[in-house]
Amino acid sequence: MKKNLILVLNCGSSSLKFSLIKPENGETLLSGLAERLLSEQASIKIKYQGQTEQSVLATPFGHQTAITALVARLRSYELNLQIFAIGHRVVHGGENYCRPTLITDDVKKTINELSKLAPLHNPANLTGINAAETVFSGLPQVAIFDTAFHQTMPEKAYMYGIPYSLYQEHGIRKYGFHGTSHYFVAKEAAKILLKPINNSSFISAHLGNGCSVSAIKNGESVDTSLGLTPLEGVMMGTRSGDLDPGIIFHLINQLGYSTEQVSYLLNKESGLLGVSGLSNDCREIEEAWLKDKNPRAKLALDVFCYRIAKSIASFSASLTSLDALIFTGGIGENSQLIRESIIVQLGLLNFFVSKTQNEACRFGTSGFINTENSRNILVIPTNEEWVIAEQTAQLLSPNKTGKE
Ligand code: ADP
Repeated sequence: MKKNLILVLNCGSSSLKFSLIKPENGETLLSGLAERLLSEQASIKIKYQGQTEQSVLATPFGHQTAITALVARLRSYELNLQIFAIGHRVVHGGENYCRPTLITDDVKKTINELSKLAPLHNPANLTGINAAETVFSGLPQVAIFDTAFHQTMPEKAYMYGIPYSLYQEHGIRKYGFHGTSHYFVAKEAAKILLKPINNSSFISAHLGNGCSVSAIKNGESVDTSLGLTPLEGVMMGTRSGDLDPGIIFHLINQLGYSTEQVSYLLNKESGLLGVSGLSNDCREIEEAWLKDKNPRAKLALDVFCYRIAKSIASFSASLTSLDALIFTGGIGENSQLIRESIIVQLGLLNFFVSKTQNEACRFGTSGFINTENSRNILVIPTNEEWVIAEQTAQLLSPNKTGKE
């Protein structure tokens, strides 16, 4: 049987997203999500040939149980023998990894060491790797790092204005995340504009639960809004994004917060959720504003959009030309309201939105949403899983081509 499929795994602390992909064209044969892992409500949803099947997971409810359940399904569809490698999304690769990497014991050790920079993500990614190694022993496992794409940033972009020794001794610098998404949409935008990627210039806004904006020159990241951790930059679903660091001291010294409480507040209780007091889900906040005229929902949307518009404008300092502004991610691909409200604040930079085009580009439809007298603005659905599958296949291919 022909081995031509990559299984892509994206492991969170209590979830596991998976997709079975043909790397040459991105065709997804099977996909799904295991949720509430490590609890008695653990369940798995598998989508195959247009049907979605949901089942509860048996004890011990963990990642390995989920992967074992997935393999049982793959076997019943006779897909397991077609898999030739596993591609893992790994959040933090620090300065150690700037390209896809075959996972060895040493690589796992480094991913573990980098947990100090991504305590919520890297340990979960390692759990997925270990579980996959047990279940798919003998298949190559490849790590695709979320930070890798941004390793091309120049020093002036990744250094913070703090003592240099903190960078030298502790690696405190900007790393950036969402790398596979920014890379994918820049590549797609270059194709749409019939420009060679190595002679192109884009600003991409990945707006999902997590949000980031990047400046991409000649297919390489030159700056990005997320930082040492995924807390910097624009406001997000539950994360604050940029704030005066003095607020942290104020919370601790004047209001008696512990460092854990501050971390929880800024990561889990802020952003759209914190300002609106309603939800971190953009659809719910839009509805609360459009249907109920809830003023806090409106405020949350206003702060969110203004901060993103300012971030986009700031990247004009990183580029000398611009072929397009790109919107992607769940919000960027679907919310005409958010896109319009961001773009109307960018008139000074010659971005103007076409209402009809903006309305047309939703739910998987890509295209231009600008007026004729505007700079190009594109909506491009992201496909991080395809990038992971493609890069995994390229790394393992005997005749390596393209970007690794
Ligand atoms: P993640 O970062 O977890 O991958 P997604 O990229 O799927 O998240 O984005 C999730 C966000 O996209 C949520 O805030 C959700 O409300 C928003 N979203 C999805 N569809 C729409 C829509 N039609 N209109 C507005 N927001 C949407």
